[in-house]
Amino acid sequence: MSHATALLALQLADDELARLRARIEAIDARLAHNEALEEARAAVADREAELRELRRRQREEEARIADLNAKIVPEERRLYDGSVRSPKELESIAREVESLKAQRGRHEDALLDVLAQVEEAEGRLEEARRELAAREREWEAESAALRQERTALEAALDRTAAERERRLPAVPPQLVALYEELRRRKGGMAVARIQAGTCTACHVTVPDAVRRAARAPEGVARCPNCERILVVG
Ligand SMILES: [Zn+2]
Repeated sequence: MSHATALLALQLADDELARLRARIEAIDARLAHNEALEEARAAVADREAELRELRRRQREEEARIADLNAKIVPEERRLYDGSVRSPKELESIAREVESLKAQRGRHEDALLDVLAQVEEAEGRLEEARRELAAREREWEAESAALRQERTALEAALDRTAAERERRLPAVPPQLVALYEELRRRKGGMAVARIQAGTCTACHVTVPDAVRRAARAPEGVARCPNCERILVVG
């Protein structure tokens, strides 16, 4: 294998390494962040907070009704147990009981309203929990597949890196240095082919003398236009 062909093999290995690393990076980013799952979790938390607030209002109304009952019961007893004889006072107690019952009625209506809202909120929470469970199942399957793919990619990465290491000693270090420099400067493509007399990277005709030089196994020819290392065929 000529030095230029060995450098082309090196370039293919480096391209493959870059591809594998990019895919691993994309998988890691995906594994670190799942928007649909986070949204489903946030929705459950919102629904739970909504239900907590409604239950707090439910307890508040129930407590008010209990307080009013605690006032109504002894007042009503006084109306009928004969302990109060004054008609004026009895009338006053009757008005007080009526007023307390009216208040209780308003709180009972409010309680019924809150209970209906609690029921609806429970339904929404249940729905949000079902949605979260579905997202979790999906994510379990997806993340397992991603982790499996990542393991395979790591193995391919190790194989390709080892392959690259094996090829390196065949190429003189100054050529490897030239290759690395061109790869940095030329958007990753340090080695180009000559096809139909032109450089495949820049599409400019390669002079005959350069083509002949590219055929020599030890020599390394470079495109006069784009400076890349040239391989025949
Ligand atoms: Zn060129």
